[in-house]
Amino acid sequence: MIMDCEKYVGKCVCGREHTLETKKVVVEAGAIANFEQYMADVGLADKKRVVVYDSMIYALTEGKHVKADQEIVLEAKGLRAEDTVIEEMMEKLENPEVIVAYGAGTIMDFGRYPAFKLGIPFVAVPTLASSDGFTANICSAILNGQKKSTAMCAPVLVVTDLDIIKGAPARLVSSGINDILSKYISITDWKISKIVANEYYCPMVSDLAKEALDIMREAADKYAATGVADHEAMTMAQMKSGLTMQLLNHSRAASGAEHLMAHLVEMQPPRFEGAEGIHGECVGVGTYACIKKYHELAALPTPKAKAFEPLSDEWITEKFGERLAAGIIKENSADVLGTFDPQSIVDHWDEIKALIDAIPSAEEMEALYKGCNCKYLPEHVGIKPELAEEMLCISAAIRNRLTLIRMLRVLDFE
Ligand SMILES: [Zn+2]
Ligand SMILES: [Zn+2]
Repeated sequence: MIMDCEKYVGKCVCGREHTLETKKVVVEAGAIANFEQYMADVGLADKKRVVVYDSMIYALTEGKHVKADQEIVLEAKGLRAEDTVIEEMMEKLENPEVIVAYGAGTIMDFGRYPAFKLGIPFVAVPTLASSDGFTANICSAILNGQKKSTAMCAPVLVVTDLDIIKGAPARLVSSGINDILSKYISITDWKISKIVANEYYCPMVSDLAKEALDIMREAADKYAATGVADHEAMTMAQMKSGLTMQLLNHSRAASGAEHLMAHLVEMQPPRFEGAEGIHGECVGVGTYACIKKYHELAALPTPKAKAFEPLSDEWITEKFGERLAAGIIKENSADVLGTFDPQSIVDHWDEIKALIDAIPSAEEMEALYKGCNCKYLPEHVGIKPELAEEMLCISAAIRNRLTLIRMLRVLDFE
């Protein structure tokens, strides 16, 4: 399948003019054989080209490498996407006009970061599709010693060869399913925030995220029933979800309360020291916890509004420890909860309940997760089960973004 990205670009009903750096996304068996044609289609065929691999992918994809003016093969063992390491590689570059990053997530930042710094285009050849970062414009490398998602640039062209992707280990297939099923929550959080706080909302981008979700849901049902992964559908779902981040220039459609669980696991605040898991797995735990919680809330009588109170430094320090407290305090210094009247949530409670009703039940999701071997319970990622309730309100403090979990601070359910 080839996705022409032009249809998402231009003046939109939301009032904004959307742009995309990504011109073309190819997800096909044998796609690598036509790589030169795709490069020509986006006007990059004649540009001086460096192709970056890691040593493991280089060996695994022998016979499927692409033409290069310069080839860089990085030692796979211990390879980290960190600015210092990437800049070391950049010293070896022989004035390329385009960078091709060939590999998994880590290698993408070895294409994205130099392309951004040098102001040249980059092309992605993903060898895995276990998350939706490939078509996004987000760099997740460690910058100045900190792991933080930073907007940089997106690939002009993405060429995914299903013959390579289909070799992905089952764990990564499950993780990829989880990363997209999270849209049940992220889209709902966005819609609720639009209703109660008049946050910017784009129906076209929201629909694109929903399309990614629907494609993945169908593939996940099939995977649970037959054990056969439809890599084409699953990869397309990841690509569409990634595009929503580029179209909005932020991750609102793709990441809500549930994605903060991945950050929580990465940060390892006190009591969460044993937490670990790959991105989609942590997101799956967040998604399931939110789905359960949202349905529980919808079953309660309409809540009353409570006055907004900022998170206290004491609470933050207790939950996050000295090491992380300063960053979290700063993140919450202009709390989005303080920007609208909490009564607005109460006034729109029936609409919120209707949005939650459209999310599958916790039972349905549990059966699906089990069928797809997905992680979905706290203990699956090393979080103690007794922290299941608290992990939601702690993770909600990690990012100053409006979610239904964050709104609980101004609601009283008696
Ligand atoms: Zn729009
Ligand atoms: Zn994700």
